[in-house]
Amino acid sequence: MINKLKALNTLYQSCHQHGMRITPQRTTVYAALTEADDHPTAEAVYKRVRKKMPNISYDTVNRTLLSFVEIGVLKMVQSRGSAKRFDPELEQHHHFQCLKCNRIIDFKYENYNQLKLPPHLPKGTRVLDKKVVLEGICENCRG
Ligand SMILES: [Zn+2]
Ligand SMILES: [Zn+2]
Repeated sequence: MINKLKALNTLYQSCHQHGMRITPQRTTVYAALTEADDHPTAEAVYKRVRKKMPNISYDTVNRTLLSFVEIGVLKMVQSRGSAKRFDPELEQHHHFQCLKCNRIIDFKYENYNQLKLPPHLPKGTRVLDKKVVLEGICENCRG
């Protein structure tokens, strides 16, 4: 779980750096992400935000999420489903993904952070992040 105050601070700083205005909509969309630990889709974020802001449109939520990815306060998650999913955890971490319910669970593991890169990466490429994805069945789905 991420520290909400620290996260809001990051949001304000990044918005400021990128000349993006801080609006109540943006803060609410971002807060919905930091309260979530399930790597929600835009649709799921929209449903949660709508409870606090009934007039907000799906389009606004989706556009806000994408611009947050652009300014680097959210990460987009590679996932098995077709919908994009969002992750507010910016520190290096890894994922366990359930093959039944598609739930994505965060975990940290120093050994994975230190994974050696293969000697023959495609020419000219530069690695910026290393993420290990474990696939399996989650606790809920095993029951
Ligand atoms: Zn599951
Ligand atoms: Zn994550």
